[in-house]
Amino acid sequence: MKLSKFGQKITSHSGILDLMDDLGKAMASNDNVAMLGGGNPAHIPEVINLLQDELQNLSKDKSWVSDGLATYNTPRGNDRFLNALAEYINSKFKWNISPENLVVTPGSQAGFFMLFNMIAGVDENGVNRQIHLPIEPEYIGYFDQGITKDMFKTHQPKIHKIGEHEFKYQVDLDNFKLDDHAAAICISRPTNPTGNVISKDEIDRLREIADNQNIPFILDNAYGLPFPAVIDDQEPIEWSESLIYSMSLSKVGLPAVRNGVIIANKETASLLSSANAIVSLANPNIGQMLMTPLLESGQIDQIVRDIIQPYYAQKASYAKQVIEATFGDDFPWRLHSHQGSFFFWLWLENLPISTKQLYQNLKKKGVVVVPGEYFFLDDSWEHSRQCLRLNIARPESEIDAGIKILKQAIVESI
Ligand code: PLP
Repeated sequence: MKLSKFGQKITSHSGILDLMDDLGKAMASNDNVAMLGGGNPAHIPEVINLLQDELQNLSKDKSWVSDGLATYNTPRGNDRFLNALAEYINSKFKWNISPENLVVTPGSQAGFFMLFNMIAGVDENGVNRQIHLPIEPEYIGYFDQGITKDMFKTHQPKIHKIGEHEFKYQVDLDNFKLDDHAAAICISRPTNPTGNVISKDEIDRLREIADNQNIPFILDNAYGLPFPAVIDDQEPIEWSESLIYSMSLSKVGLPAVRNGVIIANKETASLLSSANAIVSLANPNIGQMLMTPLLESGQIDQIVRDIIQPYYAQKASYAKQVIEATFGDDFPWRLHSHQGSFFFWLWLENLPISTKQLYQNLKKKGVVVVPGEYFFLDDSWEHSRQCLRLNIARPESEIDAGIKILKQAIVESI
């Protein structure tokens, strides 16, 4: 079969495809000692129980079943969900948005695909308009989304070393410049893979730069506010017409319902809903319908506060303590300041092998991690071969064993 340019691009061996394939195979094998790659969100027992009860209750109502399973919604989303979410966001964030500012997508990944390709790529004058990512490493899932080539431009951050074993990335605002072809600025907060949360000052500066160029500022809140809110900074940011705010139902524990939401000015939301109609007709409905009563009653806040946040906080604290006790001062290592997300980002400065090689060595020992290279577009930066993403939401026995073996593998490679 002859492929179009789009066909070639979308089927090419992307980092995410290779990695997902490899991680999938590694996860399927039963000989793993520790699965510290992929695999989020965690199956939190209280959340699973709650979902089961909720599904059982709701499914007693025949109209819920026919609406949830047997009805196409409008491409913008389920009306009751959109109303409930707009009201919920307004009360929490003190914004003044309406359902016309919202559009549901079949997962935020698909939302980004439509959004990025709508506003970036080659325009009618043949100019390649790019999405600027102010800090790399950044979410691997963006990098291969462009239908056209080179849709993303990454920027190297400043690195602040904190004490002996911590560090933090910061937007290098002195050197962050956009060219005339910039289409948008985009950042995940907390960032996947690092758990970094850029400050309100950094946000304000980036918004100002975007506004000066009349382009949107896209903020990906998959792990942030309003849910799952696994983020240190619980203060919402301010609304503006140039903001595109993305959220997801996945990280509260519903990745399989495939629902993301984009909040934007009415024109952008309407354009996205048209794109959604063309690509998907309508969105999966079950997740929206499950979530609606939780938003209307405010119960979602209680789930976040009493179950989700303490769960990940406890996991982070345990993993940190094990890493500190196991690694000690035996070799150079630093963890990125953990300000949110479900991950730790480990920097092994002076590692003589790449973390892709370390990943292979670890896999043979039954420990699966995510090599950091995949989260960088600029492979000329040595730092890009020195980092690993570790999933912290694993049973304590796996963290204990996995970190011990990780240390062995690091020491063997030095
Ligand atoms: N954004 C970030 C930062 C993510 O980590 C993910 C998934 O891991 C997504 C977006 C996509 O999530 P989903 O398509 O499940 O909404």
